Amino acid sequence: PLLGDTIGANLERTVASFPDREALVECETGRRWTYAQLNDEVDVVARGLAALGVRKGDRVGIWAPNVAEWVFVQYATAKLGAILVNINPAYRTHELEFVLKQAGIRTLVAAPSFKTSDYAAMIEQARPNCPDLRDVLLLGRESWTDLLEAGRDGVLPDAALSADDPINIQYTSGTTGFPKGATLSHHNILNNGFFVGEICGYDEEDRICVPVPFYHCFGMVMCNLAATSHGACVVIPAPGFDPAKTLAAVSAERCTSLYGVPTMFIAELNDPSFASHDLSSLRTGIMAGSPCPVEVMKQVIDRMGMTEVTICYGMTETSPVSTQTRAGDSLERRVGTVGTVHPHLEVKVVDPETGAPVPRGVHGELCTRGYSVMLGYWDQPEQTAQVIDAARWMHTGDLAAMDDDGYVTITGRIKDMVIRGGENIYPREVEEFLFTHPDIVEAQVIGVPDEKYGEELMAWVRLRPGASALTPESLREYCTGRLAHYKIPRYVHVVDDFPMTVTGKVRKVQMRAEAVDILGLA
Ligand code: ATP
Ligand code: MG
Repeated sequence: PLLGDTIGANLERTVASFPDREALVECETGRRWTYAQLNDEVDVVARGLAALGVRKGDRVGIWAPNVAEWVFVQYATAKLGAILVNINPAYRTHELEFVLKQAGIRTLVAAPSFKTSDYAAMIEQARPNCPDLRDVLLLGRESWTDLLEAGRDGVLPDAALSADDPINIQYTSGTTGFPKGATLSHHNILNNGFFVGEICGYDEEDRICVPVPFYHCFGMVMCNLAATSHGACVVIPAPGFDPAKTLAAVSAERCTSLYGVPTMFIAELNDPSFASHDLSSLRTGIMAGSPCPVEVMKQVIDRMGMTEVTICYGMTETSPVSTQTRAGDSLERRVGTVGTVHPHLEVKVVDPETGAPVPRGVHGELCTRGYSVMLGYWDQPEQTAQVIDAARWMHTGDLAAMDDDGYVTITGRIKDMVIRGGENIYPREVEEFLFTHPDIVEAQVIGVPDEKYGEELMAWVRLRPGASALTPESLREYCTGRLAHYKIPRYVHVVDDFPMTVTGKVRKVQMRAEAVDILGLA
């Protein structure tokens, strides 16, 4: 059955069952907490926030990379019934100001800086334009230690909390445009984390390595809530993603599970230090966010030993996971599909134009319904109405097909599909093929405007170090006879990196804009 708890009550339950089990480890600093200790830290932060006047329904922003305090604030706000607003660590003043204003953030907890970003300075720049913002607490600085001091003792304010209250605003990745604030309840995200953990087979013996950012649902829900609802431990390899440190953390902490988007696994597998790490503790993990090339999946299983690795499909608006592969699924299903529907949820594939369900095997728009669908976009009722229909189906904007056994295949976003001379081309299929080229490490395919065909294919490729330049002619030769003629990319562009969101998703919107310049099509 679904959990009926609030997140705070669920945490307390785990604390009561496993007080002395490890809950959280920060590898870079060596700090570690048992469940009882974690809960004490959470209560200190909750009382400190309450002392500042934070109450149920107030928005509390968190702007920091993966540090333990992120987790304390996550649970502290849940216990208060305050609404946590996750702020992307890659944001700059402009986006920060947008989120502070859009969500009406009252209290902001932030790292003073991260990498080359001076968060403290950016906050001061944005502050005069954000009338709702009362308190700024900088981790490690006086404002934060004062808060901890104020929260040392006392009691939490008595608020009537319900599992259906909004508890969290998570902005979508902004892959396709400006991010939207998905508003989620305890019920939404606690259950989603719990069922992800069920499918991964987590218990109090598991240790999950999380190089993906907490600010995104992948970290916050699929890792943190999956772990705490099953008594497992969260291991933070480093504040930001670093392949060598991730592998070192798995080895030193004997992690049983590792998370990442495919590009992170590619970086780890190709890291010069790869062979020096002992990954024998790994059993499972989750790959999500974008499609996983077959070769990568094979290596994750064979070289990393993640024999039970699963693929998740989801979106911020659905808390996030809707479908997941299961440990016993065949390799074909773990690369070709995103698994089957999660417990207590429904999925269907519809004709994007008419909304009518399409037959099994036919492509259409994937829709999800059930407990995980967000309450709505924060303060954007029209946008919400565009994606959630009257029957509470969430229209994902993703192209998918479902087979007779209920396995779902994602072929991309409706907006990324290329129509060349009347033929529908799914870039994913061409990308998978380009991956078989010995010199290509990563490939992304987009549609660019073309007078004759409406659109033409352009491949952006990253080459193996030492590989000689790849020309459109040599690629065409490689594709000919293996790929239908209309799917052969007309243009090839060699890059060192792809434009990415901070969660590691390729921003095809930006690629298409850049392509117009590169090809002189404007
Ligand atoms: P925005 O909505 O702001 O454009 P976004 O859609 O990338 O950004 P997220 O909610 O983080 O924001 O990502 C959800 C999307 O990621 C899905 O709609 C889907 O397109 C893609 N996705 C997620 N998991 C998978 C997967 N396993 N395989 C393929 N695509 C996936
Ligand atoms: Mg989206």
